[in-house]
Amino acid sequence: MLDVALLGCGGSIPVSHRYLSSVLVRYKGEMCLIDSGEYIQVALKELGWGLKNIDYILLTHYHGDHLFGLFGLLQTISNSERTEPLTIIGPKGIEKVSNAIKLLVPYLPYELIFIEQPDVITFLDLEIKTISLQHTIPCLGYSFYLKRQRRFDVDKAVKNHVPKEIWSKLQKGNTITLGDVTYTPEMVLGEERRGLKFSYITDSRPISEIPSFIQDSNLFICEGMYGSDDDLEKAQNNYHMTFREAATLAKLGNVDELILTHFSPKLENPEKFLTNAQEVFPNTVLGTNLLVRSLKYPD
Ligand SMILES: [Zn+2]
Ligand SMILES: [Zn+2]
Repeated sequence: MLDVALLGCGGSIPVSHRYLSSVLVRYKGEMCLIDSGEYIQVALKELGWGLKNIDYILLTHYHGDHLFGLFGLLQTISNSERTEPLTIIGPKGIEKVSNAIKLLVPYLPYELIFIEQPDVITFLDLEIKTISLQHTIPCLGYSFYLKRQRRFDVDKAVKNHVPKEIWSKLQKGNTITLGDVTYTPEMVLGEERRGLKFSYITDSRPISEIPSFIQDSNLFICEGMYGSDDDLEKAQNNYHMTFREAATLAKLGNVDELILTHFSPKLENPEKFLTNAQEVFPNTVLGTNLLVRSLKYPD
């Protein structure tokens, strides 16, 4: 099971009823935080998943609404008796973030590891991929994928004359040679099964690479800075999206659910514009503070 919490849904500046957009992903008790704007500590406290097990902090980009909470958070994590290293990942320019941390929170009792612009990283058995987005500065989107084990297919194993004593080894992915015969996992495993996927895209124009990047996600959280279609030009000029553009990505990406986030502070009633998204992609919901989804296999 993969738990995903949208901690806040605001963009640009925090407003009283909206924390800034960020996401916490929890898997097997370990956690990855995406972005860390002001008030992140309040949101994390209210969510109640703790701080100590945040192993990765993924930054989409270095605008203040995604970054300014990081320094206080790192300081607070040091009070949680953490001694294991913590990894911070982000687009080009991460050295400046590293320097700012050294200046503002110089005495952390755990090591920080910085990774700039990776294509893929592994977090437990999750594969995290990145995509370069189109914003006013370098910006990354992230997807998390948990591969699902294939079933053991007894009929196939028998048909391929695989000796019973090596069944479990093949099921675990090993290739075994007995005498002149080589037995592969393929000889005993059933069809590929759909894994679990979560994708997060914020602060970008809806570029053509996004649909394949988010393809078949169980959950897609995407920015919708502007609700009204009339704000399309503003979205283009400021390198953000309208609700309708985000919904179009969800449809092209064939995702199960879209949650909109990163609302403009001027967008007081996003409910008024939800139909702009739902006309294109019906299973769209508006993000709120502390909105949680648990992604599970269907059976
Ligand atoms: Zn932003
Ligand atoms: Zn930005």
